[in-house]
Order: sequence, then structure tokens, then C-alpha cells
Amino acid sequence: MATVKFYGNETVPLEMHKVRIVQKLSLPPVERRLEKITEAGNNTFLLKNDDVFLDMLTDSGVNAMSDRQQAAMLVADDSYAGSATYTRLEDKLRDIFGMHYFLPTHQGRACEHILAKVFVSPGKVVPMNYHFTTTKAHITLQGGSVEELVTDAGLEVVSVNPFKGNMDIAKLRAVIGQHGAGNIAFVRMESGTNLIGGQPFSLANLAEVSNVCKEHGVPLVLDASLLADNLYFNKTREDHCKAMSIREITRRTADLCDIIYFSARKLGCARGGGICIRDRALFEKMRPLVPLYEGFLTYGGMSVREMEALTVGLEETMDEEMINQGPMFIGYMVEQLQERGVPVITPAGGLGCHIDAKRFVDHIPQSQYPAGALASALYIASGIRGMERGTLSEQREPDGSEIFANMELVRLALPRRVFTLSQVKYAVDRIAWLYDNRHLIGGLTFVEEPEVLRFFYGLLEPVSDWQNKLVAKFREDFGDSL
Ligand SMILES: *Cc1c(COP(=O)(O)O)cnc(C)c1O
Repeated sequence: MATVKFYGNETVPLEMHKVRIVQKLSLPPVERRLEKITEAGNNTFLLKNDDVFLDMLTDSGVNAMSDRQQAAMLVADDSYAGSATYTRLEDKLRDIFGMHYFLPTHQGRACEHILAKVFVSPGKVVPMNYHFTTTKAHITLQGGSVEELVTDAGLEVVSVNPFKGNMDIAKLRAVIGQHGAGNIAFVRMESGTNLIGGQPFSLANLAEVSNVCKEHGVPLVLDASLLADNLYFNKTREDHCKAMSIREITRRTADLCDIIYFSARKLGCARGGGICIRDRALFEKMRPLVPLYEGFLTYGGMSVREMEALTVGLEETMDEEMINQGPMFIGYMVEQLQERGVPVITPAGGLGCHIDAKRFVDHIPQSQYPAGALASALYIASGIRGMERGTLSEQREPDGSEIFANMELVRLALPRRVFTLSQVKYAVDRIAWLYDNRHLIGGLTFVEEPEVLRFFYGLLEPVSDWQNKLVAKFREDFGDSL
């Protein structure tokens, strides 16, 4: 994106790329959308992509690749061991992060599996700014526990704090004091903190965390899956970073950490993942698990084509005009929605735009899944698929009672360089219409509720005939438009 001044004074994020491969989309009429979401049990995970107009479910594995990435995939060196492709990837990671050792994996959660197996055992604690679903699952599976130490600002839905992903340093010291440094498996910082709205941490905060870790001899692990967004926010929101290049900020970030792992489904716009390690002893502890769970040490479950695309994607991540596309589109969407009074998480983060369902449909009790109901209503109104991030995504207590989530969010992910500005405008328009008709939206109730990960497979139905009324109002307002 370029910050180009428009004669008309409007602020518009301007694409610095052109689109040369396209995929046709279809927008089914509203009656069919109602049918499809009913078939999917009001669960957007169960919709078929053919029935979705704009897929804003996730940014994972669906970012657009560049022409250079595609070209690199054609010159991949296919060999089980010692492939030249692998060497190119390893060299690129050394160049960017300055860490000597690398272990490849098939995706981000595989890194978490290996880290948890090596560092976590019953009674061990992992302090972190905030958890990610798979991270927490791997740590607890090994008998460890997670301490979330994000600053209080991180959980405020409406805020002007530019770094809501920061860790509270006093809380970190207290947790280490309480458990003893020997019981801390490692400290984990997540860039572009996923579950609280893609919110970044500042480089200054990371430096403080790093100091505390060094003082106590505890390793600092960075989850760099959403690093690209975090780097952009460091550069644009943090004074001492303004004069630094993205490459310099990246190296400064890496220098503060002992281990960096990432999902290449996000970082590098490819697929796969890996762990970069500074210290030989730590590398040797983790290395045996890679051939066991992932694949041989020079591919770790990734295809050579993915590794070539990743190598080029990592280099492209050092380009500010590339990594700013996501945050600038999200910033635009958040600003447009705010102008129309729609409650969203502020400030805008990376990853996607997050609608605050607690305020949007404040008449729906948490026991009727307001964020799930809103995601269903949004699909009916627009053909857009978002993701529920609220009570539905929680699991019941052993006694069957609900755990009500802190936040009820509908996340609209903006995969990087995939959508156009008119598609974003369409999304804003339909969300605004839905907001004006929010009183028509009702709750949901389970028809089939799996015990584990119910948000993936669960089937729900509306508590009344509110969806038919919504369709009728749509026809009234939009005539025979799609
Ligand atoms: C997606 C993600 C992961 C897991 O990566 P996968 O490639 O999906 O396994 C871990 N951490 C964060 C912050 C993520 O966003």
C-alpha cells in the first residue's frame, strides 16, 4: 500500500500490486443463503466454499502469493535429504532472524507440539501475553499450565492503546517469583496477538520481557506467526522504530529472543512452519522430534514447492509496502464501520476486523451465543463467512454449565492481498444494514453439541423464526438484488 494523497482528500489504501490470476466468485441469493446456513447448522465452519461470496473465516493458508513465489515453486529441488531448496530456506531464515539453527515442521501447531514436549512437564508454567488455541492445548496436554499476562488494556474492547498485545512486566515478575524460575518452562510472546483482535506488542515491551527472562535464566520464545502485522505496527506506532527499516526491526526483535517459531500459513504467505533457535544445546534437545513427528530434517513435512514459496515470501515480508496491505485494509474497514456506529474492536489490529457482538446484539443473552447468531445473520445478509470467537468457542464446565467468554466477537479475517477495496466496501455496507436491523436478529441453540471443540462441528438452530424475518426485510430493502 502507498500513502498517496488524493486530490479529493479521501484517505484510501492504494494497492501497490496488480492482480493477474483471479478466481471466480458467486453470490447466491438471500433465500439460498438462508437454506445453506440452515444446512450448515448455523455454523460457518460447515458452509461449503462454493456457497460463500467473501470468505473471511481465516487468514491461514489463504493469503495471495506473489508472481515471484509462484515462479520459485517451479525451480524447487526435490530430494529427500540435503535438498538445495531447504538450504535456500535455512539461509534466508539465518539472514532475517540471525539465528543459526532451524527445524522445519508441517505447520505452526507442530512447532508448539515439539516445544511443549521438550520444555513442558507436569507443574511447569508458561507465562505468555495471551494464549492461542493450539498453543494452550499442547501445553496443557503435557501437564503444564498457561499464565496470561497481557496488560489490562489488552482486554478492553474499545481503546486507543496502540500496543494492546503488551505483557504486564510486574505480573511477569510476580508469576516468576510465585512459581520459582525453575518451574517456568519458557516465556512466550505472541506477535499480532490473535485471539484479542490481532493486537501488537511494542519492541520496547519485548525488550523489557527479554531483560526479565535473562535475569532469571528463562528462555524467551516468540510466536512469529503474525509477525508481519506486528512489524508494521512497530514501524508506524512506535517512535524509536520510525527511522528503522522493517529488516532492522525484525533483527532487533529476533535478537531479544532465544527461539522463534511460526506458522508459514500466515508468515511468508505459504504453508508449513518451523523453529529457529539461537543456542546449539536447545536445538539438539528438539532435533530428534522432527524426524519422528514431521519428516526428515531437510523438509519437516513441507513440500519443496512450499519451502521455495516460503523463502521468497519471507524476503517479501521485509518490504513495508507488502506487509502494510493487511493492516491498512483492516484500518479502513474499522474506520468505515465506526463512522456508521457499528461496534468494533479498536484500535484496528492485524489479521481482520473484529465486530463486538456483545454490543451489536446486546438483546441476545450469552447463553444464546450472540457472536454465533451474528455470524449466521451476516452470512444471510451478505454471503460473507466470518468466525465466531465467543462463548461457542469455549467448552462447558465438567458439570455442564456454560463458560461465558470475556468477549463475544465475530472475526472477519482479511487474507493478505486477496480482496479488493470494493469488496471491503460491500462488507461494510451489509454490516451497516444488519446493524440498522439488529433488533431482528435472535439467538441460537444447540441441536447437536460435541463435547470437544464444539465450534468446529456443532449444529445449531435459531430460537425463533427470526431468520425468515431477516430475509423478508432484506427483500423489502434491496428488491431483487443479490
Ligand atoms: C495460526 C497460528 C498458530 C498455529 O499455526 P497453524 O499453522 O495453523 O498450525 C499458532 N500461533 C498463532 C499466533 C497463530 O495465529
